[in-house]
Amino acid sequence: MYTWDELQIKIKQCDRCPLARSRQQAVPGRGNRKAKIMLVAEAPGSQEDQQGIPFVGPAGRVLDLLLASVQLRRQDVYMTNVVKCHPPGNGDPTPEAQEACLPFLRCETLLLQPPVIVCLGRIAAQRLIDPQFKISRQHGSWVHRKGYWMTAVYHPAAILRDPARLEDAKQDFQAVLAKLREIEEAQYPL
Ligand code: SF4
Repeated sequence: MYTWDELQIKIKQCDRCPLARSRQQAVPGRGNRKAKIMLVAEAPGSQEDQQGIPFVGPAGRVLDLLLASVQLRRQDVYMTNVVKCHPPGNGDPTPEAQEACLPFLRCETLLLQPPVIVCLGRIAAQRLIDPQFKISRQHGSWVHRKGYWMTAVYHPAAILRDPARLEDAKQDFQAVLAKLREIEEAQYPL
């Protein structure tokens, strides 16, 4: 278990899987370290690889739009990826890379202790919720595991490919806020 600052350094220096050889730089999670919502996508894209920041570029703008639809900003959430390095050719991160990188995600989760984890897209949902997760059928569904409420919404890049998914994603984000309210009301019934 690391502190936040140690974790950033460990990720930046990591060469635990072959992605270390093809990346420009590792991309640690970023955002509010007291956030109640943790967003987990699959891997940094090529622009993130160049800039070292998660969710920049067109997909990042879609994410901003989704957050704004529920009156949230990036500063209100914590954003990270299952693997912290860009897979060449934008391919899916291999199961081996995911396994190698998982301790960093575990550490982020333990440091943040978010009541709600939102998987962005199929890869994150299959890693965190269910290996058989079907994003088109199961987005917006909830599981409660190890003290965390978890759901999945379409990845912003998938919304760019098919803008018809935007409304579903907005509704799923509304449900995220409703779940947070429900959790808080259960904690503080008065
Ligand atoms: S993807 Fe994760 S495990 Fe692989 S080199 Fe990058 S930080 Fe290390």
